Amino acid sequence: MQGKLTKKRLVICPICGIDFNSDNPTKIYCSPECAERGHKKAVRKYYNRTGPERINNAVVAEQKFRQEAAEKRRRRAKKPDVSIEDIAVMARKEHLTYGQYVAKYGL
Ligand SMILES: [Zn+2]
Repeated sequence: MQGKLTKKRLVICPICGIDFNSDNPTKIYCSPECAERGHKKAVRKYYNRTGPERINNAVVAEQKFRQEAAEKRRRRAKKPDVSIEDIAVMARKEHLTYGQYVAKYGL
């Protein structure tokens, strides 16, 4: 125990029981090794409570979520698929020149 006044707080690692100082309030393990062991323990606990089927569903759901997120990112990154003629027509509707329209919508 250290009696010094610091922003750090004393944390006791739930895996090995070592106490250490941390200025990160979310850090509960003393080392990456203990963090990994703690994480595995938490997964096992979850597994015991929910059973293999639900774990599998959770994994599938997460994969699906990630795929959809990646797909959304790809779509957003892609420029709109319109031809110069289409742009010219749309520009005319707004009484803009092609150049003004492109500048306005960043095409
Ligand atoms: Zn530890």
